[in-house]
Amino acid sequence: MGHRRLVVGTLLLFVSAALPAQPRRTTLLEISPLSDKEMLRMIPLFGEEGRQCVISHVRDRAFVLATPAEASLLAERFRGVSVVMTDTSARTLHRRAMYGPAMKLPPVYHTYDQIVAEGERLAREYPALIVKRQIGRTTQEGRPIVAFRISSDARTSLDRPRILFTGCHHADELMGAEISLALMRQLVEGYGKDSRITEWLRHGEVFVVPVLNVDGHTVVTSGIDPRWRKNTRDGNRNGVLYEFPEGVDINRNYDFNWAHGGSDDPMSERYRGEYPFSESENRAMRALADDERFLAAITYHSQGEVIFYPWEWRGRKAPDDALLTSMARGLAGSIRTMKGDTCYKAEYGAGTVGQSYPWLYGRYGTFDFVIEVGLGASFFPPEEVPGIIAANLPGAHVALDWMNGPGLSIRVTDASSAKPLEARVWIPSVETEDVDRRTSHPATGRFWRLLPAGSYTVVVSRDGYGTVVLKDVRISTEGWTTHEVKLAGLN
Ligand SMILES: [Zn+2]
Repeated sequence: MGHRRLVVGTLLLFVSAALPAQPRRTTLLEISPLSDKEMLRMIPLFGEEGRQCVISHVRDRAFVLATPAEASLLAERFRGVSVVMTDTSARTLHRRAMYGPAMKLPPVYHTYDQIVAEGERLAREYPALIVKRQIGRTTQEGRPIVAFRISSDARTSLDRPRILFTGCHHADELMGAEISLALMRQLVEGYGKDSRITEWLRHGEVFVVPVLNVDGHTVVTSGIDPRWRKNTRDGNRNGVLYEFPEGVDINRNYDFNWAHGGSDDPMSERYRGEYPFSESENRAMRALADDERFLAAITYHSQGEVIFYPWEWRGRKAPDDALLTSMARGLAGSIRTMKGDTCYKAEYGAGTVGQSYPWLYGRYGTFDFVIEVGLGASFFPPEEVPGIIAANLPGAHVALDWMNGPGLSIRVTDASSAKPLEARVWIPSVETEDVDRRTSHPATGRFWRLLPAGSYTVVVSRDGYGTVVLKDVRISTEGWTTHEVKLAGLN
């Protein structure tokens, strides 16, 4: 999500060094080696547009767009500056910088068709462990969006805690799809062999949506435009697709504080859409969240080597702040950076942005974490891909362990019919009015909720039924504390 900032987010603008008004930047420069410090010195030379001139800066190698005058200045002041190409098309220059000399996506990355085909192959080989489900179609081009359910009995919807992994809200952030695919393979192929994997799949259900923004991902993976971030909605309805930067930022289209997030300008890279859930990709996620009521979720983005979690909302923290913070830190501490000398950082995300994590947390109580994988580009040179995947799988494993609690598991039924009930389950000492009331699952009456060890009052209510108040519910430090709640009708 923050990839336009690259690594220069904290720079000071020494605009006095900037050149006067610029003609278009038609020269692609490669600068290697270039340290982070040198990058900070270089950016101001481009004036106010400094950051946008940097296409990527991965390890000590940068690609930048420059005017002829800027190119000469950079060659004077920095070593290792070479002209890669000149072209009047910004798209062509970005294609060369991001795809390499072949000008097409390196084969280490998977197309959407390849990802789905690999999921289908796993489902044929391990039919008990993984099933594919279509959760919607894309807004503009109608492509199917699929999820995979992975468990020890994947053909059945089970009464178990569920976790969701999602890749590629943003089209160019390809690593999310690659990590998701690697995780799918590892879980399915490791079941019965690796004891941790076997336990996860016996006690929980794992859902993976490897690519949510299927149309946008296809623009990037087919070699059309590596800059593509949003979906491909034909905003001006002229019938021409892929007019950069058309589309809706589907990570600004959710309905929790939608109006405070993103931009209302259709040509902004953060255009939030005409109204919440205007985009069918987001409606697909809503339908999935309604069906499954996830305990927790991981949403992959690039870049920054940072975890964002709910939230800092105009000075207020999330109701579950202490627990969310410790979970985010545990997650961050398990993922090594590309340099390998340290781990990812955990930072508060904003509560006011229409993104997936405040929405899933605010509306459903799902503890959602954004992981911004890798550093220096939206996607990475082929030789970096295996290392970024390998570094991120331990993070996924930390998240999978959350399916073991500790927390509260309540099943709510109708006292006379014994049928499962969707009911509000409220913990007044934790949940403020900033979030929606959490509810039990309509089909099973089950409610799973992570909680730190302690004593809680739990209020279970449903219109037309007498409210039940559970006092001194003791949550232990391990596993699920279970309660059966029978609600009696008022008539
Ligand atoms: Zn993103």
